[in-house]
Amino acid sequence: MPTETFEFQVEARQLLQLMIHSIYSNKDVFLRELVSNASDALDKLRLEALRDDSLGADVSDLHIELETDPQARTLTVRDNGIGMSREEVVQLIGTIANSGTAKFLRELKEAEGSAAAEGLIGQFGVGFYSSFMVADEVTLLTRRAGESEGTRWTSDGEGTYTVETVEDAPQGTSILLRLKPEDSEDQLHDYTSSWKIRDIVKRYSDFITWPIRMAAQPAPGAAADGGDTDADAEAPEDGKSGAEPEVLNSMKALWARSRDEVSDDEYHELYKHISHDWVDPLEVIRLQAEGTFEYQALLFIPSHAPQDLFMQGYQRGVQLYVKRVFIMDDCEALMPSYLRFVKGVVDAQDLSLNVSREILQQDRQIQLMHRRLAKKVLSTVKDLMSSAPDRYATLWREFGRVLKEGLLDDADNREAILGVSSFATTHDKDAPTTLAQYVERMKDGQEHIFYLTGESRQSIENSPHMEAFQAKGIEVLLLTDPVDEVWVDAVPEFDGRKFRSVAKGEVDLGTEEEKAEAGSEREKQQEEFAGLLTWMTAELGDSVKEVRLSSRLTVSPACIVSDTNDMTPALENIYRAMGQ
Ligand code: ADP
Ligand code: MG
Repeated sequence: MPTETFEFQVEARQLLQLMIHSIYSNKDVFLRELVSNASDALDKLRLEALRDDSLGADVSDLHIELETDPQARTLTVRDNGIGMSREEVVQLIGTIANSGTAKFLRELKEAEGSAAAEGLIGQFGVGFYSSFMVADEVTLLTRRAGESEGTRWTSDGEGTYTVETVEDAPQGTSILLRLKPEDSEDQLHDYTSSWKIRDIVKRYSDFITWPIRMAAQPAPGAAADGGDTDADAEAPEDGKSGAEPEVLNSMKALWARSRDEVSDDEYHELYKHISHDWVDPLEVIRLQAEGTFEYQALLFIPSHAPQDLFMQGYQRGVQLYVKRVFIMDDCEALMPSYLRFVKGVVDAQDLSLNVSREILQQDRQIQLMHRRLAKKVLSTVKDLMSSAPDRYATLWREFGRVLKEGLLDDADNREAILGVSSFATTHDKDAPTTLAQYVERMKDGQEHIFYLTGESRQSIENSPHMEAFQAKGIEVLLLTDPVDEVWVDAVPEFDGRKFRSVAKGEVDLGTEEEKAEAGSEREKQQEEFAGLLTWMTAELGDSVKEVRLSSRLTVSPACIVSDTNDMTPALENIYRAMGQ
């Protein structure tokens, strides 16, 4: 196939412009991204080779190699992993599949130049494109395992890239960066310095489970033998003399090390590798299970929700390893859907390397592990409530809506989920309340936990249903998430108190004496207005079941109330929208 020139997709072009003009203050992270991709590619090859005997790839010496050339001012990142086909190169490198990207770019444009823009950009990982922070030209040479032809991709990041077929490419991927000349005088950004590279790898990629090697530097005099850059990527059969190449990383799986051996920074870098997030996580959770079914888990609660958390096909972030060997991403058997925002690694000792998703779903040990992990996450959230209220508040703001799905999905942990939930309340406009706090503030004689669902705090507060509660100073939870409509019907009570919508049925407020007094008063009124009520019920016909006197209103003359067991108006709307 001839050399073809392609244009970057619009979003990709915009992102590249951001990279070229280097909006990240820390450019070093480009190497973390390239090493992270190389490591993923090695994981994938090992797995594919395990499942497919006919692949014919050599997996005996999987590694990552870094090579600097100070004369030519280049840096090469090379792996002998899975590689990419020509179509994959065009699709994976030329376009941006991440659905959150367009939204991110829009927000960025709106925030342009402000401090908010800095914050936004820092959250958004750009992976491979980050190489354009340090390079003015990038050449990627790759051959997919099992294929005979390779592909060369080249771009300066300015709108177009070229793709050509290459006959003799080694299997795997090598990425050659022609470093920007303006960085050459700057010691801090001299990516041809092996000292600098060593430092970056130690800092960001130490835990990578594949060896990251530094290629032997050509002796200063012997360099000038004519710019042959993409040959001899494979093992040094000939030439390079005896010395073992230097391995830069310790390769120790962080989850297998004890907590006091590992710094927070190291945990955070592993999190970024797994999640592709660029921001530190909110919390790190460790769990070591011993006994008949041994496993280690290292889980992370992110500090912000991804854009696609509620979209179909959202990828869960828990990876399964078996005895240090990566088995799969997005392992849904390990974590319930309502905790899908949790990222991390679970490493099990006693599973087969060939284990499939179907087998995992049915495995009893895995089900036990799933329950234990869910409980551990919930208890961590509970601990945060008291030990770090600020972080708990962030967590709830970002993930509360997802967590509440568990009230429906996970009856076993319902109490625990209610225990870590917060709700907007009439008690305090600015601070949400926990149910325990609500119960503590309940009035004498108040039996129920009152709530009202609706689209927004404002629309709920203006509802006539609220009048009597406001007048009597009775606290009401203001529930505005779509999932609230559903769980309030499914969850009977908290701490022995039933949930009660203020929009449903009769509401009896006040102490026993007040009720008795109001009762006799009401009887009198009932007689007085009996004729009117009968007439109104008849007039309104099929539109209502009954017209009755009410103690719930103080200002409005009338309101519509559902029976205790009816749907709320908002839920009716949801069903109507679904065509039911
Ligand atoms: P991400 O890693 O978040 O998917 P990147 O921009 O870092 O995004 O990479 C895009 C895709 O390109 C990867 O998902 C992978 O499929 C492919 N890719 C990148 N680098 C390599 C590599 N060294 N070997 C094989 N595939 C790669
Ligand atoms: Mg990546």
